[in-house]
Amino acid sequence: MSVTVVGSIAYDRVKTPFGERERMLGGAATHFALAASFFDEVRVVGPVGEDFTDMEVLATRGSNVDDVERVAGGETFFWHGEYGWDLNSRETLDTRLGVFESFDPKLSEGSRQAEILFLANIQPDVQRAVREQSQAGFVAMDSMNLWIEIARDSLVATIAGVDCVILNDAELRQLTEKPNLVSAAREVLAMGPSVVVAKQGEYGAALITAEEFFSLPAYPLETVVDPTGAGDTFAGGFVGWLARNPGDYRAAMAYGTALASFNVEEFGTERVLRLTREEIEDRVQQLGAMTRLALTV
Ligand code: AMP
Repeated sequence: MSVTVVGSIAYDRVKTPFGERERMLGGAATHFALAASFFDEVRVVGPVGEDFTDMEVLATRGSNVDDVERVAGGETFFWHGEYGWDLNSRETLDTRLGVFESFDPKLSEGSRQAEILFLANIQPDVQRAVREQSQAGFVAMDSMNLWIEIARDSLVATIAGVDCVILNDAELRQLTEKPNLVSAAREVLAMGPSVVVAKQGEYGAALITAEEFFSLPAYPLETVVDPTGAGDTFAGGFVGWLARNPGDYRAAMAYGTALASFNVEEFGTERVLRLTREEIEDRVQQLGAMTRLALTV
């Protein structure tokens, strides 16, 4: 199988209590591709500006970058954010859409034919334009508070056309105006998808379908340096695993959780770039061991 991802490819300026980076490679599609490429061929779709110098990094582990469009005279998407001591919340100080302002996605034949599609966080109408070109049998998506606030109807229309929605718990509550996470997830299932994943930051993630509720804690790290990209890295592990193991949602949750835990140990893409498959397997095994219930009654 192969996985097509559309979403931001960015330069990020980030400050956390543990340090800062002026301009590091980021973006939702970037973090997703670096994680999903451990499991399957990834095809990245999105625009970059003339200032983009990280095409080789984007192509790590064989990801296909043929549909990464370099826009003459354009500037790569730029995001500036800052975290306080509560690393679960952050403040966006600047977002410069740059080449995304006029992005009109056109998927190549190879990207259309990928069996799996991930619509990373981007304007919901652009997500839908990509979804309509794709022949994927399984489509997952992410979004963010900004689109819930300014493009809710378009977002709900996009959700209606996918199989799996991956949002953080606050976004699920904001989207449905339901304070209870299970009820909120059920309302999203009623919009069309068959799977909802609620990311809960340092507290883990939950998976909700019509028949099942499954929850995993985050991997218990003692050092978290930069959470940027954790959600997209989780999605890359989750969707990447599903590409090879369709329907194996519980293991997919463990791979998403393990990948995200590595991502937050260092700034941006730094840790996942050096990561090995053995390190991932080791953490997945540990997650399995620490969540096993040895009940005797
Ligand atoms: P995450 O921490 O998983 O939510 O993802 C963070 C990444 O999302 C950063 O690398 C940013 O470049 C990117 N990002 C931030 N704001 C936006 C936005 N409005 N649209 C698309 N991508 C964004």
